[in-house]
Amino acid sequence: MTDWNAPTDRQSGDVRLSGERQTPVGLGATEDVFVAPGSIDGTLHVEDAEYVFTDVPANGTASDPTVRKAITGDLEDGYVEDVPGDVVLRNVEDVFVAHEAANALDASGAEQVFHDDGTAPTAVPDGFDVTLSGWQHARETRDPRNGILIRGAKNDVHVTEASRDLTVYIIGWDNEVRIEGHDGDVTVFFVGRDNEVRVGPYLSASTAAESGYDNRVAVDPIPPEAVIETSKDEAFDHATIGRHKLTWQEPTDKEWCPNCGSEADAVVKRRQKDAFFVFSVAIRSYDDGGVSYECEHCSPHAVGPVSLSEDERRNVLR
Ligand SMILES: [Zn+2]
Repeated sequence: MTDWNAPTDRQSGDVRLSGERQTPVGLGATEDVFVAPGSIDGTLHVEDAEYVFTDVPANGTASDPTVRKAITGDLEDGYVEDVPGDVVLRNVEDVFVAHEAANALDASGAEQVFHDDGTAPTAVPDGFDVTLSGWQHARETRDPRNGILIRGAKNDVHVTEASRDLTVYIIGWDNEVRIEGHDGDVTVFFVGRDNEVRVGPYLSASTAAESGYDNRVAVDPIPPEAVIETSKDEAFDHATIGRHKLTWQEPTDKEWCPNCGSEADAVVKRRQKDAFFVFSVAIRSYDDGGVSYECEHCSPHAVGPVSLSEDERRNVLR
């Protein structure tokens, strides 16, 4: 254990380490500690913690820095943002360490360390145009240019009209990101647990790295409405009095398209009716036609949202 016989700054609530002059600085007795990208110009020493989720490899050496200033008290969460030297954490619960957060990490006192040494987000630390830090914040944003960074817990970000490739970097737990739009590939990096990223049917998404557990990436299926040109009700509404040949499409629950053989989200049935109608009721049928199938891959009516107007897109994505 390092020497904490240092001047003590007692605080309460959430504590933010930014612009500390006296280092090494000790932070004691907090719940979670979130360490931002590029925040510690030195080594982060975790003396004891339950879980450490980290994108910095935990191979720093356990040296014995004498703490020159200690921050403790009735603390909730800690946010480390800008410290020009070593940081020592004592008696904390979980620690979440972003990519390039510190020059080195000594996590020898942690019960368990989660570290995925695969790929790291290239946008760190300045390339995110949406940054959310804290607890239970909500943010809505339209068509971000490059990415979203969340640091904390129980935050909620909703992206609309996404049109380009995005990076999502989540550091913490129980955060949710929902992305709707018409084009783009979403690359997700997790440092922590129980986070979720869900994207709309016209986007793709995948997990690039996970330093943690129970994080999820999901892509919504394409709805049948995207393939249906005319519903049955719409077709019949147009048949007032006289003989009409109607064509419409109905949703099915098929997972494979009988027409093109693809696995598909939105397989629809194409139906026809040639009949004599009185006020949209067929009183004499000439031909009920056959049934044919089509899906988002083979239908001439599959409306990629790119070709939709804003209102149509809203309807499709509803
Ligand atoms: Zn098909």
